[in-house]
Amino acid sequence: MRKPGRHFLQIPGPSTVPDRILRAIDQPVIDHRSPEFGDLGRRALEGIKTIFGTDANMIIYPASGTGAWEAALVNTMSAGDRVLMCETGHFAWLWQRLATRLGLQPELIDTDWRQAADVAAIEARLRADSSHEIKAVCVVHNETSTGCTSDIAAIREAMDGTGHPALLMVDTISSLGSVDYRHDAWGVDVTVGGSQKGLMLPPGLSFNAVSEKARAASVAADLPRSFWDWSEMIAANATGYFPYTPATNMLYGLVEAVDMLHEEGLEAVFARHKRHAEATRRAVTAWGLEVLCRVPDHYSPVLTAVLMPEGQSADVLRRTIHTEFNMSLGNGLGRLQDRVFRIGHLGDFNDLMLLGTLSGIEMGLARAGVPHERGGVQAALDFLSQTPDAAKAERAA
Ligand SMILES: *Cc1c(COP(=O)(O)O)cnc(C)c1O
Repeated sequence: MRKPGRHFLQIPGPSTVPDRILRAIDQPVIDHRSPEFGDLGRRALEGIKTIFGTDANMIIYPASGTGAWEAALVNTMSAGDRVLMCETGHFAWLWQRLATRLGLQPELIDTDWRQAADVAAIEARLRADSSHEIKAVCVVHNETSTGCTSDIAAIREAMDGTGHPALLMVDTISSLGSVDYRHDAWGVDVTVGGSQKGLMLPPGLSFNAVSEKARAASVAADLPRSFWDWSEMIAANATGYFPYTPATNMLYGLVEAVDMLHEEGLEAVFARHKRHAEATRRAVTAWGLEVLCRVPDHYSPVLTAVLMPEGQSADVLRRTIHTEFNMSLGNGLGRLQDRVFRIGHLGDFNDLMLLGTLSGIEMGLARAGVPHERGGVQAALDFLSQTPDAAKAERAA
């Protein structure tokens, strides 16, 4: 049956792809060994560095984010290596499972899935590891299953304080292009990114930013690797080419996405995400519902996970909203299944899209018979109208 109007894709990735990017992708496929390809490849590789905040080597894979997770580990680790991971939520847990399957020995620092990575616990574990058996610390910057964001700069500082030589690897799949991130300045060794969240692209590209230290580690690392191998990529990328067929049309989209982020200004993009997250939390609180993240310093600018009242099904609510209002919301993952729904407020997103999203939720709560207070949309509306977008105001002045 025809559904008039657009679908609201309010999951925390894939996010809505703006028309400009769809148009950019809509090109004839070109020969990836032709002279014109080299120019596209170079522009894509140079452009994406500015979003990762790096001058280091960038790798672009024709793969989802999971591929770039695997690439980070197989390029730097050897069989049986210990890696320290922080179980901030479902995605951190999946990365740990991947490491186990590769033959590594992950060690998990757990949380209650309602806060970000525990910096002090990482520091303590590294101090206790006097023989330096831990080869890497792996952290998810923005835990998409819980809506908690970890402080990567603080983790780097804590690691430096211990003098421990472990590599620092960070998953920015759902934060890149939405939350401030600096691969070089924060001393990250491998940053893992993906295309379909803050970068506003369709799914299909993922990234590794690679520090000199990680590059050096890759020379000695002995896990088997072929498709993910950095060295062949880096050699071919020097002239803008790839060792195998790249996702050519996605690269057109990537160049456009980078341009769009800079046209708005990265600082303005990050401020916009924070402002929408705050408006969302005000709506959730006014509904009398609870934000899953319970540490205000860890609130995610990208998404808000909302706890259902006891005995209420998040999946029934999501289904009702999908059927009645043509909007997708994120589901509860892992141990949060059916307990939370997740509101994505990332990517190419503005005030009226947020208000449409929150209206759909408020109507859905009523329609599904979930006990709540009215007035969440009003609370968000009040916040947005009283708190102008600072960057926009500056430009208008
Ligand atoms: C989406 C996501 C992933 C998985 O990426 P895929 O593209 O689905 O493979 C990993 N980590 C985080 C934090 C994510 O948000």
